[in-house]
Amino acid sequence: MAPLLAVRDLRQRFDVSGSIFDRLRIRNGRITAPRRIVHAVNGVSFEIARGEVLGLVGESGCGKSTLAKTVIKLHEPTGGAIALDGEDITQHDFHRMRPIRKKMQMIFQDPYASLNPRQRVRDIVMEPYLENAAGPVPDVAERALALLAKVGLGREHADRYPHQFSGGQRQRIGIARALSVEPDLIIADEPVSALDVSIQAQILNLMMDLKDEFGFSYLFITHDLSVVRHISDRIGVMYLGFMVETGPKDAIFENPLHPYTQALLAAAPVLGTPLPPAADAIKGEVPSALNLPTGCPFRTRCPLAFDRCAAERPVLKSQGGGHAVACHLHDAGVPVA
Ligand code: SF4
Repeated sequence: MAPLLAVRDLRQRFDVSGSIFDRLRIRNGRITAPRRIVHAVNGVSFEIARGEVLGLVGESGCGKSTLAKTVIKLHEPTGGAIALDGEDITQHDFHRMRPIRKKMQMIFQDPYASLNPRQRVRDIVMEPYLENAAGPVPDVAERALALLAKVGLGREHADRYPHQFSGGQRQRIGIARALSVEPDLIIADEPVSALDVSIQAQILNLMMDLKDEFGFSYLFITHDLSVVRHISDRIGVMYLGFMVETGPKDAIFENPLHPYTQALLAAAPVLGTPLPPAADAIKGEVPSALNLPTGCPFRTRCPLAFDRCAAERPVLKSQGGGHAVACHLHDAGVPVA
């Protein structure tokens, strides 16, 4: 069966060259400053099946959020392809994306920043639905109340404003808003990392219950291994904008193959403990995305690096059982298309 979401060789680069004067000098042929390109996402490929949860994990700044925003086309991709339900949406403009956005919703890390402070909750949750409705919606108030009930909020909450809610309640509002259009895919970008640990569990359980009820898929982004283990069917590990390992949850946790994944797991073995800063988990600094290392992106910090690692970029290769890794130590596998 065709995957719900298929992402192929996706790339996202940002030109952060200096001032307008630098650009003018470049245009006039008198280049005094080199172009500065952030290589945020570097040839990432993955698929998500209907009803599946793909957890995306990695340290802060590894490109997870940029990847998510590129998939949903808040950023236009600079390379590669995105297909949703068999439709190639890579080149879709704003208008052609409107019906697609109904199928693909996003939940953000900061629920307060993502909710309009001047709108009442009933208007917030119904906004995506009304934007996509073909005509007048007579039962809009009842629909809003039904959505709020789905996420554990009552009739009395419908006329309040976002500032009158706790962080957990605001995230429930964000979830109800995403649900209003009955999406096929929800991209959740660190949806619980700003919440207290006790509230995190409630929101995660709510998200899983809703997935089971409605049958949609999640691309679930987090830096917390215990969260990704709780919620995911499969896991993707990102480093410096590259997907370095993917596989079923149990394969990643019980038999991690990439030295970066092994270091992450070794550094965060305790339930509820977020990944430590890179310096604590792995020796050395994360290289700049402005100046990627040659060869393997992890080679400057990898304790197992050898000569070939500096000369040749490893590609993601299948190791069987849906488990794939990009590391020259596991070269026998078959390249993942
Ligand atoms: Fe380490 Fe080399 Fe494997 Fe990269 S390719 S993770 S540097 S052993």
